[in-house]
Amino acid sequence: MLYISTRGEAPRLPFDDVLLSGLARDGGLYLPDHWPHFDAATLRSFAGKPYAEVAAEVLRPFLPDSVAADVIDRLTARAYARFGHAATCPLVQLDPSTWVQELFHGPTLAFKDLALQLLGDLFEHVLAARGERITIIGATSGDTGSAAIEACRERERIDIVMLHPAGRVSEVQRRQMTTVDAANVHNVALDGTFDDCQAAVKAMFADTALRDQCGLAAVNSINVARILAQAVYYITAGVALGAPDRPVSYAVPTGNFGNVYAGYMAAQMGLPVERLIVGSNSNDILTRFLNEGAMDARSVVATLSPSMDIQVSSNFERLLFDLLDRDGAAVRTRMARFRDTGSLDVPATAWRAARDIFAGARYDDRETLAEIARIHRETGMLVDPHTAIGIAAARDRRPDDSTPVVALATAHPAKFPDAVERATGERPALPPRLAGLYDWPEHASELPNDLDSLKAFVRECSRAAAA
Ligand SMILES: *Cc1c(COP(=O)(O)O)cnc(C)c1O
Repeated sequence: MLYISTRGEAPRLPFDDVLLSGLARDGGLYLPDHWPHFDAATLRSFAGKPYAEVAAEVLRPFLPDSVAADVIDRLTARAYARFGHAATCPLVQLDPSTWVQELFHGPTLAFKDLALQLLGDLFEHVLAARGERITIIGATSGDTGSAAIEACRERERIDIVMLHPAGRVSEVQRRQMTTVDAANVHNVALDGTFDDCQAAVKAMFADTALRDQCGLAAVNSINVARILAQAVYYITAGVALGAPDRPVSYAVPTGNFGNVYAGYMAAQMGLPVERLIVGSNSNDILTRFLNEGAMDARSVVATLSPSMDIQVSSNFERLLFDLLDRDGAAVRTRMARFRDTGSLDVPATAWRAARDIFAGARYDDRETLAEIARIHRETGMLVDPHTAIGIAAARDRRPDDSTPVVALATAHPAKFPDAVERATGERPALPPRLAGLYDWPEHASELPNDLDSLKAFVRECSRAAAA
């Protein structure tokens, strides 16, 4: 299996290189050059198997032959042993045809752990084989930072520098990053906004000398390995509810389009998916596209579901590539125009093809709070604002009542205690293993928004640079 860029100009690369490089050199995103197909008998054989075993079987065709079968088994077993639930991603039934899949039992209580825990092990394996070290740098306003730090802590060949805007992330999210006490983890509280953090990371990647010296790498959701790992829970939920012998729909609270795209991947691999329902908050570029056909970027507004406060969903480009019959040149011209004008024009045939599988619904903060309250009133469950948007979308956009719908619960309610308490009057408790979060000491370096100081800091943290 080789990987190709959505913009058609970067070289085809094997898995290892794509894992370490993230974005393709032509600015595109990597995708497998073909989809492996799991036939009905294989899908049926997944039912009842431990999550880590299914993950190993689903991921095997995407990994190079050089990664031996027992290595994949070991990597997935190790990654998912760090989850706080024996089923890894358990299903909870809400009504006769709606289930919630809890994706928040990982170390940082958000679904990003499902991919990043495995990614940490894959990185370590590939780096050891190549005799290399890397320095991961990133900017975060929320869940990605802590999930990346947990995935990389105490790793022999990885250092991680994570920037967050000082005073502008929630206390839970900040503490999940800063209470990690590991020699290879470096938190930076930057005197600036999230955009300043992102601009600084971008500028550091653009400095080729720094990039090569420190072996800079990224773990954002443009990394195809992350999305591949996420396809697994669509498959485990699907077979638990009767696939391949009946189709299943999914409702996904969506920001960067990575999670829901993983559902699309699962469908390409043979899972019978009836509908992928995109739930948006007020930042609704994707649902406007699905409902009206026009894709126009507006400015981002802050909501109660901050991990979905995104206007340009980078992973949408992967779907666009397929919608345009895998024509890299067509993607390239459209993305260039989108960058210049903020408008993406998609041919009517492609829009109709997208609507054959995707549907969308948007909810503002008032509707989100009402949904959290309704779910609590009717079922006793406390759900976080992102999850509530997925459940609302499942109800409002399900194609029919006979097909099961799985609403993905992307964060634990205790990650967003203020919104949950506002809606229900109840404050959700952290799971016992995180109960000390508010007492543990914090570790972060306060730095000015100054590129030279940041670069010096990264060089100092990087064991790759020291070697
Ligand atoms: C990251 C995140 C999302 C959005 O997922 P995408 O893959 O970016 O669409 C939704 N909910 C939570 C809790 C998240 O952390």
